[in-house]
Amino acid sequence: MTSRTAPINLSSDEFRSVGHELIDRIAELLETIADRPVTSGLAPEEVRDRIDSRLPLPDAGMPAPEIVARTTELLTELSLYNGHPRFGGYITSSPAPIGMLADLLAAAINPNVGGWTLSPAATEIEAQTVRWIAELLGYPTNCGGLLVSGGNMANISCLIAARTAKADYNIREHGMYANGRMLVYASSETHTWLQKATDMLGMGTDSIRWIEVDSAQRIDLSALRAQVEADRESGDKPFCVVAGAGTVSTGVIDPLYAVAELCREFDLWMHVDGAYGGFGAVLPELADLYHGLSRADSIAVDPHKWLYAPLEAGCVLVRDVDALRNAFSYHPAYYHFGQEATNYVDFGPQNSRGFRALKVWMSLKQVGRSGYEEMIRDDCRLARLMYDEVSQLEEFDALSCSLSIATFQFVPPDLREKLADSTVHDYLNELNTEIQDRLERSGEAFVSNAVIGGRYCLRMCIVNFRTSEDDIRAIVEIIRRLGHKTDADLRPADLR
Ligand SMILES: *Cc1c(COP(=O)(O)O)cnc(C)c1O
Repeated sequence: MTSRTAPINLSSDEFRSVGHELIDRIAELLETIADRPVTSGLAPEEVRDRIDSRLPLPDAGMPAPEIVARTTELLTELSLYNGHPRFGGYITSSPAPIGMLADLLAAAINPNVGGWTLSPAATEIEAQTVRWIAELLGYPTNCGGLLVSGGNMANISCLIAARTAKADYNIREHGMYANGRMLVYASSETHTWLQKATDMLGMGTDSIRWIEVDSAQRIDLSALRAQVEADRESGDKPFCVVAGAGTVSTGVIDPLYAVAELCREFDLWMHVDGAYGGFGAVLPELADLYHGLSRADSIAVDPHKWLYAPLEAGCVLVRDVDALRNAFSYHPAYYHFGQEATNYVDFGPQNSRGFRALKVWMSLKQVGRSGYEEMIRDDCRLARLMYDEVSQLEEFDALSCSLSIATFQFVPPDLREKLADSTVHDYLNELNTEIQDRLERSGEAFVSNAVIGGRYCLRMCIVNFRTSEDDIRAIVEIIRRLGHKTDADLRPADLR
């Protein structure tokens, strides 16, 4: 075989033509996204039918142009669009167009960003991306850090660094054993990554001390202090406090400076979960809320949330680069990597690594700090607008607004006076659950939910540079209309 024609290869002409076609179709999708339903509303069975999911593995292949055309069509029709201007559910952002292109470019070069030798430019770009992210947050830029898949992995990686640093023995070699339980403290509003982390690390979820929150949903500092003192007293080993900078339900920021002080007093690792809200620190007008963030030993942030990177992109920041290296590096005989260069295998759980940093780096270059400041400020302003809009309507109870998250409950006006009645309370929970489901099926807009003080409410989270004031007003009107209709269908006789 002197020359080779592999079935998976494309000639450069084929690549060009199918690639141009794909870009055209994506451009068309972006042009028309606002006119499409946010989600198809189809049941799993229908989606499976549409993608012919019962077909066995093909033996022979088919031409690439056909696959690309057909797949683009399927995905266009069957997907949920978090890039839709009326999507405000969970915390997934509209993807930045330059990020889409960056992912294509990253895949074309395909650097393995585990070792410098395998990814000279990509490693240096990732290092700069980490420094720029630190800079955005006002965190020391000589910190350690790397890109991971998302907030969960970023938080888990930080917890591993914390545990390794604070164990009073070689925990990497000896593992967890009963030498006093190592305990981590977090507010009851903390995201479930913490359960997964303690479970995966073999510490067990019993090693989490859930601390109650105050009326503003922030960690109760005196309860935190009392718990740490009691645990020390009984021979356990408190090692870490997790503070939230933008909690997942309501976007609340814990009192970071006070947590930092407490961590210093008790020699605890201060970790900040800023997966959603970390980037709010770019807004000078919120400086007070983020005061103390720069004192954290580690921070997790999610570029695929408020930096609008296409999934996946989370980022780990650890103040002391050695603490990160000490938690993850091994030097097997089969690697010949120069130790003076950065080899990202040494800083995280992954071995082979893709070039996630590129999409973040390119969008930071495209819009700079000022661009992000503007977009994040607009997102917050729109959440406030939504909160104000629903506050003025007799059908809504506005419950919270922090950063770019607004929560509210649809309350039929005649039930407003009876909120304390438990039958009414339960009915409103059921009603709002049903409103959420119907809204989702309608494809007109998409919100998710939060439970605040036992009340099931609707929750709009705007990490979406496509959402406008008109969208906010339209969504409120859609929910108001749907609320009345759903109430008419659902209200039990004894509440009429
Ligand atoms: C989203 C989120 C996470 C999890 O991040 P993923 O990117 O979904 O893995 C963790 N903590 C908070 C506060 C979040 O908002």
